[in-house]
Amino acid sequence: MSDMMTTQAGDAGAFRSFDLNLVPTPCFVVDEKAVEKNLHILSDVGSRSGAHVLSALKAFSMFSLAPLIRQHLGGTCASGIYEARLGREKYGGEVATFCAGYKDADIDEILALSDHIIFNSPAQKDRFLAKAQAAGRQVGLRINPEHSEGEVAKYDPCAPCSRLGTPVSQLDAAALEGVDGLHMHTLCEQGFEPLARTWAAVERTLAPFLNGLKWLNFGGGHHITRDDYDRDGLVEFIKHIRAKYGVEVYLEPGEAVALDAGILVGEILDLPTNGMTLAITDISATCHMPDVIEAPYRPALMDEAEAGHTYRLGGPSCLAGDVIGDYTWDKPLEIGQRFAFLDQAHYSMVKTNTFNGVPLPTIALWNSETDELRIIKQFGYDDFKDRLS
Ligand SMILES: *Cc1c(COP(=O)(O)O)cnc(C)c1O
Repeated sequence: MSDMMTTQAGDAGAFRSFDLNLVPTPCFVVDEKAVEKNLHILSDVGSRSGAHVLSALKAFSMFSLAPLIRQHLGGTCASGIYEARLGREKYGGEVATFCAGYKDADIDEILALSDHIIFNSPAQKDRFLAKAQAAGRQVGLRINPEHSEGEVAKYDPCAPCSRLGTPVSQLDAAALEGVDGLHMHTLCEQGFEPLARTWAAVERTLAPFLNGLKWLNFGGGHHITRDDYDRDGLVEFIKHIRAKYGVEVYLEPGEAVALDAGILVGEILDLPTNGMTLAITDISATCHMPDVIEAPYRPALMDEAEAGHTYRLGGPSCLAGDVIGDYTWDKPLEIGQRFAFLDQAHYSMVKTNTFNGVPLPTIALWNSETDELRIIKQFGYDDFKDRLS
């Protein structure tokens, strides 16, 4: 495992009272009350600051919750044609689409679906500007502030040679011709201070271009719903920018919408030994939580013991590296026993795949206040087969 691996800090919250035996495994269980709590925080930031807050579908696209999300947020932000369509069909409100590269074949449909179309480069903007304006859409340009706050290059759009955003040092009048707003997305699971420092680093360079713009979009990566986030600082920052430059401000939180709102429940299938005690489970890192390998990180186990019996947990696939991590229980594990990983609503459900023919997790919605549980979707053989031919 890499040195960069971080251990996730998980909060079981209300899930501690959820009976893991009530669902088939593997299963994502999302607590709608926890999502609602996050939405209250986000809509409060929106109404106090005057910012438009859009839900980033890339992180969390559980559209059965779209009616709830729509009550609190202004719309969605999409990464391309399919998310734009899902946003338009299920969520309503504004749709802001950013894609690093648009193509002729898709552009008419994307323009029909999106209120804001945000381009990654002046060349892409020039190629599609006439169509965007004819469709009456707001045109944005993503900039690269050339100021890094990211700790890991893979998640830092300001890392050297990044393809994301137009470097601010390359901005000129031609780059901004026809542009209604600027977009920047440079943070990942961060507090307010990195946003403030990024703005401080680019404000002077951007100032000559801000007059005449209609909006500024500060992207996602803001961990606004985390307890220690400086929400008052964010609200004051947005109010200040709106007043000083006469622009609308947009935020696109993804992870913050679903933070600590879902678990992934699995079952112990086998307990072999090879140099240490192992556990084979029906949760696969590579199929169900690919960020465990890609980020990488160690997901928090619900109710992990500090000392006791430690097992190396891995999935049912044939990939040697399909290992989730080493976890400790106070009593020895038993075959058939259930367990759950915390904070799996975002960036897991949207990333599942059927490599090895591993079944996809069921999706369930639970209400921690009423204890109502609904199985929203179960997947089967056809979901595996339909992706192949
Ligand atoms: C990923 C992304 C988001 C959401 O980021 P979170 O880290 O989930 O808040 C928002 N906007 C854009 C353009 C993104 O790429």
